[in-house]
Amino acid sequence: MAQNCPFFLLLATSVALGVSAGPTPLPDDPGCTAADRVFMARAFELARQGVASGNGPFGAVLVRDGRVIAEYHNQVRTMTNVIQHAETGLIAAFSPKLDRATFSASTLYASSEPCTMCCGSIRFAGIGRVVYGVTESQFERIITGIDETNHLGSKEVFARTAPQVKVLGPLMEAEGLIEHEKYWPTHVNPSRPRPSEARKP
Ligand SMILES: [Zn+2]
Repeated sequence: MAQNCPFFLLLATSVALGVSAGPTPLPDDPGCTAADRVFMARAFELARQGVASGNGPFGAVLVRDGRVIAEYHNQVRTMTNVIQHAETGLIAAFSPKLDRATFSASTLYASSEPCTMCCGSIRFAGIGRVVYGVTESQFERIITGIDETNHLGSKEVFARTAPQVKVLGPLMEAEGLIEHEKYWPTHVNPSRPRPSEARKP
């Protein structure tokens, strides 16, 4: 039966192709729904658009009552603005147009787990529910090349600062990791340099 498992197939394909194994994808959060998968697929598409536009592989979608009401992707590089993450960028762009009741009744789909800055933005926008694709500690391993075991996850951040925000994830992590594994080996994150790069003068 294990041969029918998607992860087994991915691993077997990687071994056959001689590809080094990246982080092992984590199982989906059992609280996620079929509709969550549809909107997460859109967040991954936006992450790919981010890369195509010259930015990092991060996308976000805001959904209310099954309808997309806002979309955004990372624009840190093209706007030369470190707070232009997909989630905070979306909130900054759309908060003048959306009232707090709308944010509260919406779900934010983030292709990757929101960082602490974005958790703060989500909290202050009053967004009621968050679903993320790739766990931050997973793509951190790809970015930095090390196991970031002291990682502070969004579930802990929200539990301590805004427990009213419902957070689910990971979801479809294997698919979401693909873009990170394509992107980061040829790019440097200034805020998360690899140890070898951090030592350079
Ligand atoms: Zn962020």
